[in-house]
Amino acid sequence: MSALTLIKESLLQLFYPHLCAGCGSDALPVSSHLCVKCMHALPLSSFEKQADNPVEKILTGRIEFEKATAQFYFTKHSVFYNTSCMLLNIKATKTWGIS
Ligand SMILES: [Zn+2]
Repeated sequence: MSALTLIKESLLQLFYPHLCAGCGSDALPVSSHLCVKCMHALPLSSFEKQADNPVEKILTGRIEFEKATAQFYFTKHSVFYNTSCMLLNIKATKTWGIS
């Protein structure tokens, strides 16, 4: 990272803090919305390793698909629950320009 880029990032952080969506910490990479601690706290499902997993059972008969999976469990007490709306909003903004 060049000195100019570092100065620019520092000024942006001062006026528009880049905080973790899960815990509010400012110790996270610029390219991430979650800190390492929150990333490790995400409840991984490992459904991609299971044939006939719960996601495939839910979708069977509703849509055509070859494989279906969910990377995380969606629970009320997980970091993912609190941040999912924000992350979906960011994806929609980047993908479709919807804010
Ligand atoms: Zn965090």
